[in-house]
Formats: sequence, C-alpha cells, structure tokens
Amino acid sequence: MSRHVLFVHAPIPGARFNSSIAALSAWLKAHGHTTALLVVPPDVAAEAARPLLRQARADVVAFSYMTCRAELVAELAAIARAELPAARLIAGGAHPTSYPRETLAALPLDAVCVGEGEAPLLSFVDNSEAPHPGLVRRGKDDPVARWWAMDVDALPDWDRALFGDVRNDGNRYERAVGVAFARGFCPYTCTFCGVDGYRRLNAPPRGAVTRLRSVERVLSEMEGARALLPDVAGFASWDEILPGSRRWQRAFMEGYRDRVGLPFACHLRVEQVTDDLVASLVIGGCDYVVIGVETGDEAYRKRFLDKGFDNASTLAAFERLHAAGIATFCSFMLGLPFETPQMLKKTVQLAREIAPTTLSWKYYTPERGTRLFGLLEEHDLVIDRWVDHPFGGEEAMVRLTHCTQRDLDVATAALRLIGPNDGEGRGTFAGPPSPALPALDLELRT
Ligand code: SF4
Repeated sequence: MSRHVLFVHAPIPGARFNSSIAALSAWLKAHGHTTALLVVPPDVAAEAARPLLRQARADVVAFSYMTCRAELVAELAAIARAELPAARLIAGGAHPTSYPRETLAALPLDAVCVGEGEAPLLSFVDNSEAPHPGLVRRGKDDPVARWWAMDVDALPDWDRALFGDVRNDGNRYERAVGVAFARGFCPYTCTFCGVDGYRRLNAPPRGAVTRLRSVERVLSEMEGARALLPDVAGFASWDEILPGSRRWQRAFMEGYRDRVGLPFACHLRVEQVTDDLVASLVIGGCDYVVIGVETGDEAYRKRFLDKGFDNASTLAAFERLHAAGIATFCSFMLGLPFETPQMLKKTVQLAREIAPTTLSWKYYTPERGTRLFGLLEEHDLVIDRWVDHPFGGEEAMVRLTHCTQRDLDVATAALRLIGPNDGEGRGTFAGPPSPALPALDLELRT
C-alpha cells in the first residue's frame, strides 16, 4: 500500500540541501511511496509551520536533524502530533542517532531511526509495528542496532527534485552539485572532528567503513542530475574526503572529462596530494580543492589533532595544486586547547607561506563524542554554551590556558592581511563572503 511521507528539514543557515533526506526520499519512491518536503529555515518559529503540517496530509512524518536544531524539532513534532493525529512520527539523522533513547523520551515520536535509514524507514512506512535493525520503537524492547547498505550501487540517485535548488551557501565546493562517491565514513581519525566521533559511535563492521560506488554509477548519477537541474555549474565529491584507490580516481576523472566536462571540486587530506593524484585531477578538470591544515604547529597537529603531516609536506601539497592551476581553500582553527602565542605565530607564518587561493579560519568548536572533547573535560576547558555550536563564535570557544583573547585577536588581524584573494574574499570567522543565494523560505514542497 502506497503511503505519503513528509520529510521535515530544519537546516542550519545556508544548508538548503540535505543528502540524507534526498537518499531516503529516493528509496521510498523506488518502493512505491510518495514524499513531500517541509523546509523550516533557521529564523522561522515552529508555530509558523502549523498550517503546512496540517496541509501535508501525511501518513508518516520523518524528521532529520542535528543537535543544534533539537529544540525546534521538538516543537515541530508536538505540532505534527496535534495536527496529524493518525500519522506515524519518526526521527533520524545525527542527533537521534547519537541520542536515540533520549530522543524517544523527549519527543512524541513512534520510533527513532539510528544510522543509515533506507531499509529501517521503509520497514516503518510499510508497517510501523514491525521490528527492524536500525529502528528503536516506542514501548518496545528494541536494541540500538544498525542496518548498513552494503550494495551501494543498488541505491537510487538522490531525490534532488524534492529540493529544487540543491546549492548550499559557502565556498565553491558547497555551491556545487554534490554526488556521493561512497557510503560510510572518512577513514581518518582527527581528534577534533565530529565525523570521527560519529564513526566511533556507529562502529561500522569490516567492509562498511567506506563502501565505494562504481565509477559508472557515480557518472550516471551526475548525468541524471545535470539533466534534471538548471544551470549546473559544476559537481563535487560529496564525501568528507575524496575516496577511492588511485586507479578508481583515475578512471573516474577520465570518465568525468568525457561524459560531464564541468568544473569539479573535492576535499583532500595533505597526504593524498601526490603527483599522481594531481595528474588525475587535471584530467578530470578539477579546479577547486578544500584542505584543512588547522594549525601551523606541526608537533601540536600531530600530538593533539591526529593530523600527522608536517609543514613541509603541507607546503609541497599546496604548491603541487597551484602549479596545476587548481584553486585551493585552506582552513585553520584558532582557540585550540593549550594554544600558545608561539603556536599562533606559526599558524600565521604557515598561512602566509601556503598563500592559498582562499584562506579560511574559525575558532575551534568543541564537539561531544570527539576524542579532543575528552581532553577538554579532563582539563576543565569546556564552556557549555559553545559545545556543539553550529555557527562558530567570534571569540575562543574553550577556556584559554596559555594565551589570551588579545593574542587571538592579533593573530586574526595578521591573517586578514594575507592574500591573494580570488574574488570569494579572504577568510573571516563567518567564512568567505560570497554573493548570497536566494534565502530559504518556509515552504512545503510536494
Ligand atoms: S580528514 Fe576531515 S573529515 Fe576526516 S576525520 Fe579528519 S577532519 Fe574529519
């Protein structure tokens, strides 16, 4: 029996596209159901969405959200329960996956979906009484187990039509049309990164950490997206880090050149930037790479951040990319735990030497579930209001022990003087200024 599923998207500023919702909507449609999307922008009160929730006439309402949107989603769930009393309510995504039982206790939901959602959500939509790995149902004794999509080539193309415009605000990577090359997690283990924390929480079994799609499948999805969307300016690998073996990457770039032929962007780690990879990127027409360097102090980077590359390798990586004509977006963090004035000088010095196309810096944001957060707790460096903060601060977000805010302000002023500038603007705490995309509206898309 076909059911109508309403996805509720409560984005952080600028994030109009949600790849999880796009993946799940495609999966449900492929199995005979219909879907709609309610977008509730950051500056809109939950109550304003009441008429649209009523109008949606959904059989199932599915919420996907991060911790920073939990309060808003709690209000939306209460409204959905009141306006659609016969509907089944379910939540998934980063926050419900991290806190499934707390989410079920706090919101009037029938179930929480943990981890990857295609099969659990389909099971819930077909029969909300049936147990399934990945579902934690109200009033049942379900374990917090996970389901993994192992045949990633069998997953349908993301449902981009549900969103209309899939460009996010931000740099050129964020504005490109994203296509996932793999399902799973970044294989690196940076101590500060929520992705690493999320992988540890989910504990993927062997073979599930990175499930690479075939080159053919990725290219066919790009061709489909290009036919669907107006004015596609370029694509990006929608993966935390460009995945794949050298051979896979070369085969993809050759296919991309022949079948797509648009600008291409990706995230890389310094260690990935070999001559061989850069040659592949050039073949594919890649013109934009994002790399996180984090600090100019290589000993600190290795010891506290688990980023083991040194400054010489970093400089060589950026030089390789620049020599190949590839623009770079290089990001640093300030206000790191135990940061010293000497570390800040090294950061400014390295940023100056790298001379990226776009330099970006922001204050380190403490995230629960990361290994670095444990160190903060151990040394009493946590400032509660900044934990898991989605937008970043204009001041240090942990207690400073070895430098002052004044030292950070001096470093910031020095970073602002560093060019060159590619027209996207120099880095600021808010990120590089770019021409604004149309603002997100409260909207029911059917
Ligand atoms: S490489 Fe990037 S995405 Fe991967 S763990 Fe490190 S910071 Fe996170």
